[in-house]
Amino acid sequence: MRLNRILPGLTAAALVLIVVVAGFAWLWRSDEPQPFMIAAANPYASEAGAAMLRKGGSAVDAAIAVQAVLSLVEPESSGLAGGAFMLHYDEKSGDVAAYDGRETAPMGATPALFLDNEGEPLPFLEAMIGGSSVGTPGVVKMLWLAHQEHGKLEWGELFQPAIKLAEEGFTVAPKLAEAIARDPVLMQMPVAQDYFYRMDANGLRVPAAEGDVLKNPAYAETLKIIAAEGWKGFYQGKVAEEIVSTVQNAPRRPGTLALSDFAAYEAKKREPICAPYRAYRVCSMPPPTSGGLTTLQILGILGNYDLKGMGPMTLTAVHFIAEAEKLAYADRDKYIGDPDFVDVPVEEMLDSAYLESRANEIDASYSMGKAKPGRLADERAMNWGMNQPVDMPSTSHFSILDSNGNAVSMTTSVEGPFGSHLMAGGMMLNNQLTDFSFVPEQDGKPIANAVAPGKRPRSSMTPVIVFDEDGEFRAAIGSPGGSRIIGYVTQTLIALIDWDMDMVAAVGLPRFLDRNGPLEIEAGTPLEQMALQLEELGHTVEARPAISGLHGILVMPDGLDGAADPRRDGNVVTGQP
Ligand code: GLU
Repeated sequence: MRLNRILPGLTAAALVLIVVVAGFAWLWRSDEPQPFMIAAANPYASEAGAAMLRKGGSAVDAAIAVQAVLSLVEPESSGLAGGAFMLHYDEKSGDVAAYDGRETAPMGATPALFLDNEGEPLPFLEAMIGGSSVGTPGVVKMLWLAHQEHGKLEWGELFQPAIKLAEEGFTVAPKLAEAIARDPVLMQMPVAQDYFYRMDANGLRVPAAEGDVLKNPAYAETLKIIAAEGWKGFYQGKVAEEIVSTVQNAPRRPGTLALSDFAAYEAKKREPICAPYRAYRVCSMPPPTSGGLTTLQILGILGNYDLKGMGPMTLTAVHFIAEAEKLAYADRDKYIGDPDFVDVPVEEMLDSAYLESRANEIDASYSMGKAKPGRLADERAMNWGMNQPVDMPSTSHFSILDSNGNAVSMTTSVEGPFGSHLMAGGMMLNNQLTDFSFVPEQDGKPIANAVAPGKRPRSSMTPVIVFDEDGEFRAAIGSPGGSRIIGYVTQTLIALIDWDMDMVAAVGLPRFLDRNGPLEIEAGTPLEQMALQLEELGHTVEARPAISGLHGILVMPDGLDGAADPRRDGNVVTGQP
């Protein structure tokens, strides 16, 4: 009897206690700053981003500081006169946003942009160097747009680390030194020849070497204008005028890029594309990059097979992944272009029944050789001919998680090493237009990725954010590597998800991929020992260097795990505000 009276009281007291403790725990959780992490391709850049995060800046604030510094210290890869895609996760709302800062073709561009007088495609180097490959840069407007929505610190403050480095000088990293030394034309280009080379006692030009200190006052001046005037500082006035005049008066293949192209440029906020993979949800950029769609197609095909059971990096796993890649790359070449110009059948390409039918085309015992694009129900899409792309790797990827749990996964590029090789305002001008198909049609059929005024060239950049089944942020990852980006990122996702690897192990794996051509394996790695068996399975194997540049962050049960690709110069910085 007495117990009956005491029990409800005790239960009520216990309930109150639980609510109070939970309340405190929640308060503690939201008050206690979580550690931040940043993984980027150059320590100066990671440090600039970390400096913003220490001040309580957001992931987007840090991204802007990182990009401003990368433009200076890794000019062969990305810069403010280039383009980028940024995937952003907002912890509070749970929203994922996809910001498109891809370059556009100037209004003066024609489908014959990269054809010679006989209508034949130009050799790549000829098309790349000079003014006609320069697209309207998109990075600054994209960063501005993201900052309007997610910035915490003042816009101008974000450029201070880059301004200081440009004025006081930075030490040349190994990859930059290598890129200068290897470049066939940089020494002949106006401005660049004086910036990247010094005269020795005999009056000969000597390339800047690892450890040399470079100062870039012209870039410091550009940055000060952008810091003070916002996006207008780049798209109007002195900076835009200098870029336009450099392109129009280029010593090789002058281009048509005009101030009106700068005035018309818009960065776009697009719907990200997300798809389930095992117990996770993988999100990436939609077209005009082919990266997200192709990666999700490969994963969607492989979802029909037990990669975990096959085991990490086994012969069977490599075979199945390569075959799935062949199928997805075949679709990529046929269907993907700028969605503002062509009708990309995104939903059908990610339809699970379609991907299962594609998975059924894989033979466990023999390679299919050359995969054909799938037949989609959308008849309009069938009109597109196959793309004719050529690319050379440069580009940069960075991942950032701020102390409030917001994340940025951003891939950024001037396209080929040193872009068009033209320099203005202390920046390398991109050659992103060579990401268009040089040939506008094939067998009378228009190519989805043909050049058109105002159009964005198809990209391969694949910034990714992964969520677990509770919708919690789990990982951010991406890579440079031209059209190989897709293979690099996909393999890393499989290593994280199917093979339970941590970020360091996944990023360090020997690379392999198949772009519907030969099966490429990373030279000098144990994969070479598998070559014979892969050939017995019908693969044409090609061992070559694989210069991925994966920079990723992974949430582990015991904290954050980040990795910088050992094949590049980057690092990981962590800390607290
Ligand atoms: N321009 C290429 C793209 O947007 C990237 C080039 C690279 O990764 O080197 O896909």
